Amino acid sequence: MLADLGNIDLDDDIADDREERTRDIRAHFSGLRHAMTMGTKRRVRDCNICKQRGRTDATLVSDVTTLRRHMEAKHKDVYLTWCRKNDFESKLPRDVQRRKSARAAAEAKLVQTSLDNHLAEKERVVPYSHAAFKEAAMEWLLETDQSDVGNWHWGLTLSIESAAAFISTAAL
Ligand SMILES: [Zn+2]
Repeated sequence: MLADLGNIDLDDDIADDREERTRDIRAHFSGLRHAMTMGTKRRVRDCNICKQRGRTDATLVSDVTTLRRHMEAKHKDVYLTWCRKNDFESKLPRDVQRRKSARAAAEAKLVQTSLDNHLAEKERVVPYSHAAFKEAAMEWLLETDQSDVGNWHWGLTLSIESAAAFISTAAL
């Protein structure tokens, strides 16, 4: 049972009570007061709608999540209508969760897009292949004097180095 201790001058446990982001709480619940519940003094608020309807269980522990859960469970339509009229983003748990999921999905999509771009970038790098290596070697043979054994050796070394460069670029 809740026993009203009256509207004493209290510190508010909803620290941002006067702030914009708890405007929905102030619109739908009474001011903070103390009440005894199961032998403990608690900070509570009354649901304005439940009180108007004469309900005996209109008193709730003054905790933003508890209060918004109550709105979601009992007065969702009233709450959402109020949000629209008062240009307030719904803080009902399901809406907060939905926005959170949407943000996570958008972030995941962004990461995927950037990964796709990165992979597309990589595909443009000519990968090493035996054919490419052979082609490079043939080009060198045609462009140089192959009768000189010393040049042949030097050119082949260059081709091997360029092949190695291909491999390391493709592996990035
Ligand atoms: Zn209510």
